[in-house]
Amino acid sequence: MKIDTLIVGQGLAGSLLAWELIARGQRVLVVDRDEAVTSSKVAAGIVTPITGMRLAPTWRGEELWRYATAAYRRIETQTGQWLFRPIPIARLLANDKEALQWQKRLSQAAAELGEDRWPSGTVPLEIDTTIFHDQLGGFQMPGAGWLDVPGFLEATRQYLLERLAYAIGRVDAEEISVTYEGVQWKNIEAGRVIFCQGWEGNRNRFFDWVPFRNAKGQILDVECPGAAAEERIINRAGWLLPMGGGRFRAGATYEWETPDDEATSTTPEGREEVEAKLRGMLKVPFTVTGHRAAVRPVIRESRAMIGLHPSAELFERVGFFNGLGSKGVLNGPFFARQLAEHLVNGAPIEREVDLQKNF
Ligand SMILES: Cc1cc2nc3c(=O)[nH]c(=O)nc-3n(C[C@H](O)[C@H](O)[C@H](O)COP(=O)(O)OP(=O)(O)OC[C@H]3O[C@@H](n4cnc5c(N)ncnc54)[C@H](O)[C@@H]3O)c2cc1C
Repeated sequence: MKIDTLIVGQGLAGSLLAWELIARGQRVLVVDRDEAVTSSKVAAGIVTPITGMRLAPTWRGEELWRYATAAYRRIETQTGQWLFRPIPIARLLANDKEALQWQKRLSQAAAELGEDRWPSGTVPLEIDTTIFHDQLGGFQMPGAGWLDVPGFLEATRQYLLERLAYAIGRVDAEEISVTYEGVQWKNIEAGRVIFCQGWEGNRNRFFDWVPFRNAKGQILDVECPGAAAEERIINRAGWLLPMGGGRFRAGATYEWETPDDEATSTTPEGREEVEAKLRGMLKVPFTVTGHRAAVRPVIRESRAMIGLHPSAELFERVGFFNGLGSKGVLNGPFFARQLAEHLVNGAPIEREVDLQKNF
């Protein structure tokens, strides 16, 4: 079988790259291990314009948001499925430090934009105080969204299957031979191979020098009839994502340096940490109905790292798309396009995300 690009891994990264390459007329084959639990399958799928304790705007948020919404809309049109929707986030300030930080942001916005103007398109928050803890107030972020990531992965897989562009399997980098003409893996002859392996991205002979700092995350499925009417994502030191009918997802932990064999193991400590976040958010009772864990692939914060292998011996045949961290839904589409443009049309890669220029 002869193809242009062999893609290893069908998480967010491999899927988004496949869409961009196919849109440029490339023949691709995506090979994935088809595991039940992966980072993308566990991901909440939330896009947040203002993040963290510092309440800072997300890195290049507006630009990446514009591209991501357009890309998901295109994929929805092609698959006939509803996958992405804008959904506001109600951010409740969790402690005095956050409240002080928010006051600073408000003063800055007033000085730069004018009296009564709020930062990054935020608006005043209205929330039911019989359900949620709001002692310190908060704000609402309209420019937020949610991707049904498992739905997106499955829709992509079906699309690829119909084009004979998907296979279940494990690609071992040791089994790939690279020549001047291209790469060979089993009976597949490809122009190049791009590794999109998530947190295991440096467990192959080509990229064992890329430093990862992965972060395991645990999330809960919960039922909370008392908050059933809430349609926004609630964020207060953790997040609560409405799934309809009083069901929610809640998260998440950040655990650094997890041993490989515990990557998808849930723990009582992880469950307790997320439940504590929920108790800090909700005044009404909830019941835990599910618990999952996976590892976020982190290289430089949550910024993508893309490009071809720096070694001249590999003749531009071996590439990399990884490092989506906790922001894969927002960052993925923009940098998938940038990598596809680089591979197909030789367009430059921005220095900040260029694998060749960062290590
Ligand atoms: C608890 C949790 C919550 C999260 N919440 C959010 C969120 O709200 N918003 C957000 O944007 N992001 C979130 N994320 C992060 C998001 O999940 C990641 O950014 C994204 O899924 C990474 O995608 P990926 O394709 O790089 O990796 P993965 O999803 O891990 O995909 C890699 C794929 O490659 C396959 N693979 C690996 N090696 C091989 C091989 N040798 N051969 C064949 N296949 C192989 C794997 O089986 C897997 O399917 C969350 C993550 C976690 C863990």
